[in-house]
Amino acid sequence: MLKKMSEIDVKQGLKIVLSKIEEACSKRTLELQALEPTLVAVSKTKPVNLIVAAYEDGQRHFGENYVQELEEKANNPIILEKCKDIKWHFIGHLQSNKVNKVISLPNIHLIETVDSQKLASLLDKNWPKFGPPESKLKIMIQVNTSGEEEKNGIAPTEVCNVVQYVLKECKNLDLDGLMTIGKFGYDPADGPNPDFVCLKKCRDDICQALGIDWKDIGLSMGMSDDFEHAIELGSTNVRVGSSIFGYRPKKK
Ligand SMILES: *Cc1c(COP(=O)(O)O)cnc(C)c1O
Repeated sequence: MLKKMSEIDVKQGLKIVLSKIEEACSKRTLELQALEPTLVAVSKTKPVNLIVAAYEDGQRHFGENYVQELEEKANNPIILEKCKDIKWHFIGHLQSNKVNKVISLPNIHLIETVDSQKLASLLDKNWPKFGPPESKLKIMIQVNTSGEEEKNGIAPTEVCNVVQYVLKECKNLDLDGLMTIGKFGYDPADGPNPDFVCLKKCRDDICQALGIDWKDIGLSMGMSDDFEHAIELGSTNVRVGSSIFGYRPKKK
């Protein structure tokens, strides 16, 4: 029998992850030390009581990768009552026909997975219908750094064009950074993860080409197995699920 995660386990998991983040930050170069990474607690497949437990311990950013699951959780009466300042990150593949569903959710904070110019344009067009007046929707551009066919994301060579498009044409979007999932199972003992190095290079190239301060473009990279490594390489946003909420059975 699998042991069920209790609210106490989640608080413990969160505490351990936060202390590992702090330790990884202390190993960063001086230049990077000013940037504090955001911890996104990835709560997919996990019940509302565990989200509330993490929220009560001060966690604010949560990530979900299925539209329907996010919709249920964001509208859940207990979450709405007890987690008033929750910040939802959408981290899954977003289909055009689900855009309005996601951007109309309470407390939607950031779409991390914008993987085409078309999607950016649609979000830009529709945000004013749902968001608070004069506000901008935060987005990240997802980059397919590993070049794997089954992964979503924009090719590294195309990212600069899409970023330029968003900055010039999408008045209702606020570009927060770049995001990658990367290849699974890379062992940091083999040296810097090439996916993380690639994402950072995309950022540096864009900033140079478009005259942007690199500190204004975040990097979402690193999950349970490698968030410390990612932080050392400059991650500003780590997405951590199982290390906080416990093992997740694989989806069929
Ligand atoms: C599930 C998921 C995570 C978290 O994975 P863990 O290995 O459980 O930390 C991070 N990012 C994305 C996009 C995910 O789908």
